[in-house]
Amino acid sequence: MSAVQSQAGGDTAIVSVAHVSKFFGPFRALNDVSLSIEPGMVQCIIGPSGSGKSTLLRCINQLEKIDQGAIRLDGELIGYRRVGDELHELSDAEIARQRLATGMVFQRFNLFNHMTALQNIIEGPLTVLKRPRKEIVAEAMALLERVGLADKRDSYPSELSGGQQQRVAIARALAMRPKIMLFDEPTSALDPELVGEVLNVMRDLAASGMTMIVVTHELGFAREVANDVVFMARGEIVERGAPDVVLVAPTQARTREFIAAVL
Ligand code: ADP
Ligand code: MG
Repeated sequence: MSAVQSQAGGDTAIVSVAHVSKFFGPFRALNDVSLSIEPGMVQCIIGPSGSGKSTLLRCINQLEKIDQGAIRLDGELIGYRRVGDELHELSDAEIARQRLATGMVFQRFNLFNHMTALQNIIEGPLTVLKRPRKEIVAEAMALLERVGLADKRDSYPSELSGGQQQRVAIARALAMRPKIMLFDEPTSALDPELVGEVLNVMRDLAASGMTMIVVTHELGFAREVANDVVFMARGEIVERGAPDVVLVAPTQARTREFIAAVL
């Protein structure tokens, strides 16, 4: 697929963002953003603070409503249903169902503090997925194993390091069996020595074929793991391309300045 076709969003895309704008009052946080992501792809998003990276993820996850454009997940329009020529807003229940397709990991760990690691992971599946408890617990244990924390099943968040908490947060998101994982600066709040263990889990997840959108300042990780990198500034996509281009020899001056400042 050519770059132009891929920008327009072929029908194989698992995430298709088309001409999306988002306003907070008069302020335009996203300006005509289009991005299409194929299954199994790792899309990294870089850019200065305030450039709209979190807003874009929050729109894909329907934590925010878009004002213009359209977002499709696995071909399905999110937030709206088309009836003839009109768009009708979906009900909260329909939006909740759509949101299950995306797992999100935030900068802050967002675990339930009164629950153990295992309880944090099984909470969502128990309340939403309506599968047998035994099966859910077994799957949660397998996920804890996968993020290297099987021995921490009964630990509370306060008893875990930031890196361990973030790995539980990843396991918790995976327990909902999402089609796509969204990471919003998952290592930015961590002490430097804990960054690697979280990136390792993300690297393994990428290798397993999970489709991922990763907002990060970890340019080494982006270069190694991303299939494609987007540089955003002021609510717009300034540059998009292969990691070895965008991160090493960007064509846009604004990208070059940003990368020089981060490195
Ligand atoms: P980034 O994640 O790239 O740092 P954000 O997406 O968080 O940027 O924010 C983009 C811009 O939108 C910023 O200027 C921010 O202040 C603004 N913004 C984000 N969320 C809100 C909100 N809920 N209300 C008002 N302005 C917001
Ligand atoms: Mg942000």
